[in-house]
Amino acid sequence: MEKTTHIAVIPSAGLTHLVPIIELSKRLLELCPDFHVSCIIPTLGSPSSSTIAYLQTLPSNIHPIFLPPVHEKDINAPQKDQPPHIAVQVQRVVTLSLPFIHEELESLISRYGLVALVADTFALEALDIASELNILSYVYCPFSAMAVSLYLYAPKLEKKISLEFRDLRDPIEMPGCVRIQGRDLIDSLQDRSNIVYKQFLERCRRINLADGVLFNSFPELETETIKALQEEFKGKKPQIYPIGPILQNGSLSRSDEQNNNGSDCLKWLNNQRPRSVLYVSFGSGGTVSQDQLNELALGLELSGKKFLWVVRAPSKFTSAAYLDTSNDLNPLDFLPEGFLERTKEKGFVITSWAPQIQILSHSSTGGFLSHCGWNSVLESVQNGVPLIAFPLFGEQRMNAVLVTDGLKVGLRPKVNEKGLVEREDIAKLVKSLMEGEEVKEIHARMKDLRDASADALREFGSSAKTLCEVALKWKDLGGIGK
Ligand code: UDP
Repeated sequence: MEKTTHIAVIPSAGLTHLVPIIELSKRLLELCPDFHVSCIIPTLGSPSSSTIAYLQTLPSNIHPIFLPPVHEKDINAPQKDQPPHIAVQVQRVVTLSLPFIHEELESLISRYGLVALVADTFALEALDIASELNILSYVYCPFSAMAVSLYLYAPKLEKKISLEFRDLRDPIEMPGCVRIQGRDLIDSLQDRSNIVYKQFLERCRRINLADGVLFNSFPELETETIKALQEEFKGKKPQIYPIGPILQNGSLSRSDEQNNNGSDCLKWLNNQRPRSVLYVSFGSGGTVSQDQLNELALGLELSGKKFLWVVRAPSKFTSAAYLDTSNDLNPLDFLPEGFLERTKEKGFVITSWAPQIQILSHSSTGGFLSHCGWNSVLESVQNGVPLIAFPLFGEQRMNAVLVTDGLKVGLRPKVNEKGLVEREDIAKLVKSLMEGEEVKEIHARMKDLRDASADALREFGSSAKTLCEVALKWKDLGGIGK
């Protein structure tokens, strides 16, 4: 009788957290079709239409289970005039969902002999339940080996260093990683008095206790970092599994109107010269201030280069569009006066979801000004497109350091004392990325990384090998015949 190995995965609230863990599940099932994955989904309010549309595309051996929704009033602190930090909100949704997670896990264990739980980094409290119920516990970090190193070493760093990380003069050193200034570490570590800091360290502690850490990078990309992690954790918990690159499905468009918008921009790209267009996007949730929006617009104009820009309405919160909350603002109303008219021969502006993978793989695209979300970095690598690193929040500054100082496949603008990147600097960097001498080397390195990424994804490449290794461990624990 054929045996099915059953595992569960738990994302945290929001499509941005759901997609990586589902894409990991899809990759697992591609390699091991005799697996079944239950995806236990904590939600804030009702699931968005894009979440439902995305889940409808799943194969039958991935089974989504929505937990009873948490309500906004339960996660917002009433005393403040602004909502809690996004990380606190996301974490709180999971905390409030724990009794339901417990129930679901118990039921899956008794019905299917569930062997392991893989949790997203904001759903780590669920791992305590996994240990209590005697199943293996894993974390999926959809980010770089360097960011994983920070999660694993942060408890030690915090003991060793008493100053605020942002005030350190000397760069921080983590085994196998490029040196990084304290102010470029993840946002959560920038203020010791903030609850976000304490919650981050608590997450680090939990990751250190897991049976394994799966993450979205590969040895050909972050060779030294992965080597150092594997040496450090050889024979101990957590086991280190670089299973990337797991690339997200580029057809994640959100509505017909957005599809039209997306296909118009591809038509526009078809009419441009090879590698002549700079693609500008801050991911699924990144927003900039009105002042930064002006500088960016005027910098792009000043560069004289062609651009394809996914514009979002400004906000004082850099992660404003993150939790699927929509607003009715028209982003075009916030652009500098006359900008669209003056740049109509040079630029194409898109105000909604862009078909990013198609854009990056298009022959007209020659550069990517990106917030350095890790998926965007990997997609750029996969397509050999060099970057301008314009990080906004989360671990994006770490990714920017990796892209520019570590991998040396991108340029990073200076930020002035008001926290703004000025138009002249943007124009200078855009020009040098699209035509300058120094980009020859950047292009050559990007090409090597593109090939390395393709190698990792081959049938017997490092990605498949590592994921199969962990899958085999799960399989050995048994399963229930079907
Ligand atoms: N994305 C897209 N169109 C958009 C914005 C984002 O297809 O208009 C996709 C992009 O290809 C990537 C993901 O959404 O796969 C964004 O992930 P990333 O890690 O770069 O940034 P985040 O959104 O998590 O900040």
